[in-house]
Amino acid sequence: MGFLKGADIAIDLGTASVLVYVNKEGIVLHEPSVVAIDNTNNRVIAVGTEARAMLGRTPGNIVAIRPLQDGVIAEYEITEKMLKYFINKAVGKKTFVKPRVMICIPSGVTSVEERAVKQAALAAGAKEAYLIEEPVAAALGAGIDISEPNGSIVVDIGGGTTDIAVLALGGVVCSKSIRVGGDKFDEAIVRYIRRYYNLVIGERTAEELKKEIGSAYPSRMEKREAEIKGRDLVTGLPKNVTISVDNVNEAINEQIEDIIAAVKEVLEKTPPELASDIMNRGIVMTGGGSLLHGLDMLVSERTGLPTYIPDDAVSCVAIGTGMALQNIDVLSGSKKRDFM
Ligand code: ADP
Ligand code: MG
Repeated sequence: MGFLKGADIAIDLGTASVLVYVNKEGIVLHEPSVVAIDNTNNRVIAVGTEARAMLGRTPGNIVAIRPLQDGVIAEYEITEKMLKYFINKAVGKKTFVKPRVMICIPSGVTSVEERAVKQAALAAGAKEAYLIEEPVAAALGAGIDISEPNGSIVVDIGGGTTDIAVLALGGVVCSKSIRVGGDKFDEAIVRYIRRYYNLVIGERTAEELKKEIGSAYPSRMEKREAEIKGRDLVTGLPKNVTISVDNVNEAINEQIEDIIAAVKEVLEKTPPELASDIMNRGIVMTGGGSLLHGLDMLVSERTGLPTYIPDDAVSCVAIGTGMALQNIDVLSGSKKRDFM
């Protein structure tokens, strides 16, 4: 099924996962941002889903790395390899013509890293490479018409960061990015379980626990407890422990408060004209972290504004990036530029 015209591909280069959206096909790839490397020769052993299965359980010479941890490119060369792998996997043998690629990068990425990401896309076979800011992509994907003068606010909670931005007339009016996201929740759960149950668990177990019974609003959660397996700190032996919704809430409360404080800070910085639009439209929440049970309710309660999670909260950014790429000629006129 080769296309005569090169496909446009949009990439959400997230700290937790990478999504690839292909024009007319939708999301064609959604895999963890993980790369497994052989330490002895620096070769890539596996990327994505396969590499993630190796996290925390690799033999001595193999390390599974998350190159974008904390919302910055911690490992440039590995990010480049990962990007190439995903572009090739998504485009594969489908196209005869090089694709145009637009990449949404985490907001903490520096301008040097931005250029590096573009270079990586070009090296991976892109005909042209563009970048887009995360909040702009998230808003577009959530169906917000950002070209109009009315203001909107988007809160994207990813793995490494939470990005909050007020948008109007196609641009970011005010914003804040904090290095608190789903990963910090997982880490907090690991610490809590260790401290109060003398039980050592891995971050994957913590993440599962968070998704199962994690809640920002425990009184509204129906499921009350879950059983986890770990290693007893005292005996060194495997042990099962039952954890309650309230325990998990206590573990992640500080991180939840950090996010709410950041949202409030952006609201306080918002120009009054836009504030009234935002009052009416509410807060759009995207990213995997927004799916934490009750977080939308709590944010709404604390800010006094309605909150809204689109159906495709996790793929919003990739979809929005794809929309921007399709409209790049329209949006930027004859002079093509990045949406930064
Ligand atoms: P990024 O854009 O940084 O790649 P994502 O938007 O994919 O991140 O979000 C990943 C984060 O969302 C992870 O920390 C993951 O644990 C969290 N997450 C995904 N689903 C849920 C859920 N149902 N409840 C709570 N957290 C979730
Ligand atoms: Mg994201």
